[in-house]
Amino acid sequence: MPTRSSDAHQQIAQRLRTIARDSPGLKHAAHLYEAILPVLRDADLQIEAIALTPAQVRGKMEKGQPLLDGLGLELDSKSVREIMRKLARAVENAGQNGMPSRLRLLWPWASADARSARRVRKALEREVLDISALLPQVAARDHGGIEEAAGSLGLDPDLVTVLAQNALKPALYSVRGQLAHLAQGIPWERGDCYVCGAVATLAELQENDQIKHLRCGSCGADWRFPRLTCIYCGNEDHQTQRCLFSEQERERMRVEVCDLCHGYIKVISAYSPTLPEMLAIEDLATLHLDYIAQANGCSRTQAIRKKKSSNSRMHGKAETAAVAHCAVHDPLPPVRKVVMPDF
Ligand SMILES: [Zn+2]
Ligand SMILES: [Zn+2]
Repeated sequence: MPTRSSDAHQQIAQRLRTIARDSPGLKHAAHLYEAILPVLRDADLQIEAIALTPAQVRGKMEKGQPLLDGLGLELDSKSVREIMRKLARAVENAGQNGMPSRLRLLWPWASADARSARRVRKALEREVLDISALLPQVAARDHGGIEEAAGSLGLDPDLVTVLAQNALKPALYSVRGQLAHLAQGIPWERGDCYVCGAVATLAELQENDQIKHLRCGSCGADWRFPRLTCIYCGNEDHQTQRCLFSEQERERMRVEVCDLCHGYIKVISAYSPTLPEMLAIEDLATLHLDYIAQANGCSRTQAIRKKKSSNSRMHGKAETAAVAHCAVHDPLPPVRKVVMPDF
C-alpha cells in the first residue's frame, strides 16, 4: 500500500509536470524541484519530542508567541549539513546554469545554478561552512550574518540560505505535526505562523464556504485568518485594499495588496487544504502573481520589515472572529483586472 509520503510525492510530480507544460517559463524551475524533492522526502532529521503541555500551548498563543519561540530546538548539525549537501548535489545534477532573469527576486531557488551549488557542496564537504553558526542565523532570518559568512567563502548567500531553509523543513514539519492538534480551536489572528513564526507564504480559501486560511511554507501550518485584514499591518479598511487577478484565473487565484503598507499575499482557492509538501509548488505555480504585485509597487520583504519594526498586533478577538467566518459573497476589496505575464 502506498505511504502518504509516496502519495504526496506522486501528486507533486504530477503538479510539476502540469506547471512545466502550462508555463514554459517555469520549466527549469519545475525541473529543479523534481530534482530536490526526493532529498526532502527522504530526509531523516531526528528531533526530540516537543515538551509543551496543552496549557503552555494555549498560554503562548494567547500571548501571540509562536510555539517554537524560546524552545531552543536541538538539531544535529551533521545531519543538517548532510541534507544541505544532498540538496546542493541535486541542484548540480539538475545541471542548470542560470535561471531566467525574471525569476530573480520572485523565487527563492532562483540563485540555484549548478556552478554555485558545486561551490557550496565543496564547502560543506570540507566543513568550512560552519553549520552550527549558520542555523541560528537562518532561523532568525539574519541576512547580514549569512551574507558575511557565505561571502567570506565565496559562496552565494541566497543559495546558502535556501539550502539551509529547506534542510530545516523536515524538522519543522515534525514540530508542526506534534503541535498542531494542541493548537486546534485556539484563535491565532496573526500573519506569522503560530508554530515557527515565519510570515505566511500564501492564503487559501478552503471548503465550500471558502474560509480564509493562511499557510506557512516553512513548517506547513494552517490557521484561519480574517478575510479582509492585511496580514502585515492589520489594515481592515476595504477602501485601501485591492485584489489583482486575470479574468481567466479569477475563480482560482488572485493577489491581495494593501495600499497602507504595500504588502501583498497570494490567495488560492483550495477547497481542501494543500499538502504541506505542495505549498512550495503552489508558490511556484503562482509566481506570476508575485510579478504583478511587485510591478504594482508592492513588496513582501518591505512589508515584513515594517511589520517587524512596528511589531504590529492584530485586532481584538471578538471583532475579528466575526470577519473570519465571512462567506465568499461578502464584499471584497475593490478589484483590478490585470494582464498576466507569460511565465
Ligand atoms: Zn511555520
Ligand atoms: Zn497592510
